[in-house]
Order: sequence, then structure tokens, then C-alpha cells
Amino acid sequence: AAKANGRNCVMVFDPEDPQTGDESENIAAILRIALEQRLMSLVYQPICNVQTGALDGAEALMRMKMPDGTPVTPNTFIPVAERTGAIVELGRWAIRTVCEELLATNRVQVASVNVSPTELKMPGFAAYVAATLAEHGLIGTRLAFEITEGVELEVDTEVVRCISELKRLGVQIWLDDFGTGFAGLSWLRMIEFDTVKIDRSFLHDCAEERGRVMLRDIISLLRHRGLRILVEGVETEEHEDLMRAYRIDQIQGYHVGRPAPAARFAMVDRFRSAAAVGLSSA
Ligand code: C2E
Ligand code: MG
Ligand code: MG
Ligand code: MG
Repeated sequence: AAKANGRNCVMVFDPEDPQTGDESENIAAILRIALEQRLMSLVYQPICNVQTGALDGAEALMRMKMPDGTPVTPNTFIPVAERTGAIVELGRWAIRTVCEELLATNRVQVASVNVSPTELKMPGFAAYVAATLAEHGLIGTRLAFEITEGVELEVDTEVVRCISELKRLGVQIWLDDFGTGFAGLSWLRMIEFDTVKIDRSFLHDCAEERGRVMLRDIISLLRHRGLRILVEGVETEEHEDLMRAYRIDQIQGYHVGRPAPAARFAMVDRFRSAAAVGLSSA
């Protein structure tokens, strides 16, 4: 079921299919009123240091519901928001909300926000980020942006310029879903990423020896470039043990924690931090 709802399937938008068109138009219309109607929210998924067990940060993930309360998956509404341009306002709302409810309250040290190339190309994006950080009394290093490798985008000059402005603020830039597209290696050549998030499909292929060899090769490539490595989709104890054995820096996945609202997050923070202090002082 997860596969059937996967990014690739949903992003194949067929304008000839009246049903797809209707649903997309409906979502587009609702997205225009979504913020004022309080139909959007953010949940946060913990990012854990696999060696110490410390909570290193959290990723913000957008949630949408229809006016009748039915949830819509990001794999459906994000592509629509990108097509209509609604993503620009939603993205700004997400950055502000993360600063307000997660970072300024010190629930975590670092929070990441997913961004679309559309947002990075908008003039004034970095200035908006700088102003929002300042408004909340935050230093840039506490914020990270995740850029997904999967997007079909030549690494163009506008994007590169925006990224260097963000880096000058101290903001971290992470490469998301590494290994899912063909652009990953060119992204690595063009941009100085702080962290590379290896897509969860690699971990799932680890059930077989061939998959493990592949993952180890990718890890050594990234490590030689001095990148911090995060593996997504850690769903079991076995996954976590394997990542520890491979000396991965950080992990994320249902085994570590499911996405949860900011308020619930504070408890995870205290628990994980306490455990980490115990470990590192030993
Ligand atoms: P992503 O950035 O790669 O986010 C990870 C997705 O994997 C999330 O799905 C998360 O809930 C899911 N996930 C986390 N751990 C596990 C696990 O152990 N197993 C499995 N099977 N799945 C796991 P979600 O929240 O549905 O988001 C889907 C995608 O939508 C995200 O992929 C991201 O590309 C996009 N997205 C979400 N929020 C935003 C946003 O605020 N802005 C933009 N531009 N894109 C967003
Ligand atoms: Mg992400
Ligand atoms: Mg990801
Ligand atoms: Mg992924």
C-alpha cells in the first residue's frame, strides 16, 4: 500500500484523466484557503544519533486536512502546491512555525524543513529566513533545509545563489532521498551539503547481501567527502544495529519515532537527552 502511494506514482499527473484533474483542482482550491482555515499543521520526526542515542534534531513534515477533516497525504498535496505556487506561502508558514513552536521553545537543537526548488528560486527567500530567525532570536545553525534529490532540476544558478546566501547565515543544507534519482552526484559536486540523507529504499534492500554491499559503497563515497550521513526508514532493531555497525551518524524512522506534534515532542527530547548524557559521561 505504501508503494502504491509512493511519490513517483502520485506525481504522474495525467491531465487527460478527469478524476485526477478534479481531485487536483479540488486540492488546489482548498490549498488557497488552507492556512486561514487552519487546515495545515506540522508534525516532527526525531533524528537520533545512532552511536549515543541522543536526540540530534527533528524533521518538520507538513500535514493537510480537507474541511471535513479527511487527511491528504503530502505525496498528493505537495505536487499540487508546487504546480500552483501555493508552496511558496506554505513553505514560509512552515519555516515560521518551526522557529516558533520547536526551536524558540528549545524542544530540539536542530530542525529541518523540506524545501522545493520553486521556493529556493523565489527572490527574497534567504532574506525571509534571516528575518524569521532574528525575530525568534535564533542562530542559523539551528535550522536545516532538505532538498530532495528526486526533483527534476538542473542545479541552476538561482538555486546555487540562494543556497550560498543561506549558508552564509549558518543555515545547514541537507540532501534528501539520496540515491533515488540520477541527479545526486551532480548535486554533490555543485553544493556543499552538511548532511546527506540516504533514502530508505537502500536500508530495505539490506535484507540481501547485494543491498548491503551497495549501501556500504555509498557510505564510503559520502564519508570520503566528509559528509554527515543520515539513513532514513529505520523500522526495526536490526536496522538500527546495522546502522551502528556501519558507523552511520544519524538515523530516522518509525523505530526511532513516528512524526508527532511539537507538544508531544518535548517528552521524547527529555527522555532521549537524559539517556545520552548517561552514555557520554560513562
Ligand atoms: P521525505 O522528506 O523523504 O520525508 C520522509 C517521509 O517518510 C515522511 O512521509 C515520513 O513520514 C516517512 N517515514 C519516516 N520514517 C519512516 C519509516 O521508518 N518507514 C516508512 N515507510 N516511512 C517513513 P510524509 O510525511 O508522508 O512526507 C512525504 C514527503 O512529502 C516528504 O518526504 C517530503 O518530500 C514531502 N514533504 C513533507 N513535508 C513537506 C514540506 O513542508 N515541504 C515540502 N516541500 N515537502 C514536504
Ligand atoms: Mg525530508
Ligand atoms: Mg527523506
Ligand atoms: Mg525518502
